[in-house]
Amino acid sequence: MIVGAGLTGLTIAYELKKAGIDALLIEASPRVGGRIQTVSFADGVTAEAHMEEYFARNPAVKLLKELDLPVLDDVAHSTVRLEGKLYPYQGEGARDEYLAGIFNAEERAAFLKWNEKAWKLYSQLHATHYEGKPLPPELAELMRISFAEFINRDKLPRKVSEWIRVTVEPEMAIEWDKISALDGIDEVRLFLDTPEGFGEKNYHVKGGNTRFTEALTARLSPDQIMTEGRVTAIEQTATGVKLRVLQKERQYIEVTGRMVVVTVPVNHIGRIQFSPALSAEKWKAINTTKMGSYIKVHFRVAPEAAALWQEKGESILTMLSDTQAGSIYDVTDLQGGSEKGRDALLTLLLHARFARDLMNQPLDEVREKSAEALDNLFPGVRKHIKSSEIFVYPQAVAYWPLELGRSRFDALANELRSPQGRLYFGGDTTVDSHSEGAVVSGLNISKHIISRRAELQ
Ligand SMILES: Cc1cc2nc3c(=O)[nH]c(=O)nc-3n(C[C@H](O)[C@H](O)[C@H](O)COP(=O)(O)OP(=O)(O)OC[C@H]3O[C@@H](n4cnc5c(N)ncnc54)[C@H](O)[C@@H]3O)c2cc1C
Repeated sequence: MIVGAGLTGLTIAYELKKAGIDALLIEASPRVGGRIQTVSFADGVTAEAHMEEYFARNPAVKLLKELDLPVLDDVAHSTVRLEGKLYPYQGEGARDEYLAGIFNAEERAAFLKWNEKAWKLYSQLHATHYEGKPLPPELAELMRISFAEFINRDKLPRKVSEWIRVTVEPEMAIEWDKISALDGIDEVRLFLDTPEGFGEKNYHVKGGNTRFTEALTARLSPDQIMTEGRVTAIEQTATGVKLRVLQKERQYIEVTGRMVVVTVPVNHIGRIQFSPALSAEKWKAINTTKMGSYIKVHFRVAPEAAALWQEKGESILTMLSDTQAGSIYDVTDLQGGSEKGRDALLTLLLHARFARDLMNQPLDEVREKSAEALDNLFPGVRKHIKSSEIFVYPQAVAYWPLELGRSRFDALANELRSPQGRLYFGGDTTVDSHSEGAVVSGLNISKHIISRRAELQ
């Protein structure tokens, strides 16, 4: 039994199917995909309502290839706006050219020295935690200070530390002083210079992310998926599990199985009753994992405006900005070839305080504030905006608050990830702040269940 048919649930069902193990996905909403949802406009243009891209280390990329889905790749780094100044992307992935476009020689040297230290720490993290080994004391220590403090201790030139902050905060939808240094190092790894290259490439699914969840769904049989079924109670019995499901918000039914995986985001777990009760440690882990905020604004812009975000005829987007406009993606060409004269589609991902500040405002206000912020970056663009669509996520992705003594690598996080009898908890919110966490947890759990195959008879 798999509760929730987002990327995690679908990955588990797909992996179990490959191993010849039958699973039933029970999904509360009328559609599968969860926080993966591509929406299309009247003229066929598509945009992502939630998740956008997959970085190379994300095992989702391997799955996308296995499912034969077409992908578009891009470099890890972006144009950045630091302390009010814009630094257009340059270098086509070449480290020195990119850095030279932002930093002077002294700043570059400081960045590279810090990069070496961060990469060493990440490598240690990889060789221990990711291999199922305990953290060495020097890494455990990094769960006790904030990522901001970790950076500030090195007394880096201001522009370098700002670059780190502006690069990392949009990834986690939360400010860098709210998370532990170790969690920050895990995030910043995407952008480091490593023996494998300068930052990790990122991938988009051509035609939209829904193609991914559709391809996974197509590998299952139709009777493996129940939509409009909200799981309200999970009971473990001597031989299996019994779930109560509210179908179409009207009718309770009971379904039974051998094991159950709950993949709903951590902030929804409390809406399910568990018998026997969850361990006190699991509840503590659940209650002290918090969610960062995003708002996504899609602006449809007249084609002639494109020159405003171009330099020498080339678009300088994607751009990370420390402004109310957040991160700005030009998704015009992403979903299948550009047509001359077609409107541009700019997606703004407002993160952390920029999202929180507008969270309870009417959408008209969100649109006006975002348009104003975009216009501050690209003067004149506002008058070319034809329409907007807005998606608001007060609880978008997980973070582990330092003020509650948490880190995604701490004992409580490990406790939540370990099964309680026949019950597993998975999903991105048990691992990190991305779809990477969804697929990592999906792969780990399916592997574990396969190893317990005898108990499934
Ligand atoms: C705005 C936004 C942008 C993002 N951008 C990126 C990005 O660019 N790159 C990236 O890697 N990640 C990104 N993410 C994160 C990514 O979307 C998630 O990591 C991933 O989709 C999580 O998948 P999941 O299956 O773990 O959870 P979900 O997709 O949330 O799936 C859980 C499912 O459980 C269902 N459910 C809940 N309660 C019940 C119940 N009681 N009974 C039955 N079903 C239930 C829900 O309806 C949902 O379908 C973004 C997220 C947001 C919100």
